[in-house]
Amino acid sequence: MVDHDTAGFVPDSRCPFCVALAALPWPDAGLERLCAPHLSDWRRLQCRGWNADPAHQQRAGMASWSAFSARWRASGGLCPLSAEAVRKYVTPEMIRHPFRPVSPERQQEIYRAWCAGVVAGVVAWLAGEAPADPDGLWASTDVDVIGS
Ligand SMILES: [Zn+2]
Repeated sequence: MVDHDTAGFVPDSRCPFCVALAALPWPDAGLERLCAPHLSDWRRLQCRGWNADPAHQQRAGMASWSAFSARWRASGGLCPLSAEAVRKYVTPEMIRHPFRPVSPERQQEIYRAWCAGVVAGVVAWLAGEAPADPDGLWASTDVDVIGS
């Protein structure tokens, strides 16, 4: 794969790969399409039978796939694949509901839950139904999750 982070490459703010990999803010208007370089990467991954298998990802040379996947899933209200991916690549404001606004407080709550390894029920939570929190993990406000 070509390294698109080299000099001269300008991230396309409408391309979900560019946005995720450059950690740009997710546009409110939504992401429209992959840019040309990333479209060819995407097709190559699909041709290789990409199916979220890490071995396939490595063979495809997509070192940043995990970052893209974690951010892309958060932006669509999908549960993350792992708490580690969230801690490494996702920030609270990246967490979105597919078609409803999400308050900053709820983004923080969900982010804390994800970092604690609670990754299920996200869409219901985004819509206002928080899961049980017996240990007070994500209701707590004195936990410094950013940069921890
Ligand atoms: Zn792109």
